[in-house]
Amino acid sequence: MAVTPAKISENPVPVCPLCEKQKLRFSKVTGSYSCPGFFDDESKSFKRCKGPGDDTQLAGS
Ligand SMILES: [Zn+2]
Repeated sequence: MAVTPAKISENPVPVCPLCEKQKLRFSKVTGSYSCPGFFDDESKSFKRCKGPGDDTQLAGS
């Protein structure tokens, strides 16, 4: 199997595992990722998200 051609940036932004809608933002303040929330099409409103949660391990490298 061929390795996937690299269009992957050096810092791939993980998608929030909780809502799976929004990419996480890395906070230099806390040193961890947080989900900025997302717009829910069904309710036509902006949803806050508490993701990714405390136990999520996103430290890829
Ligand atoms: Zn989220």
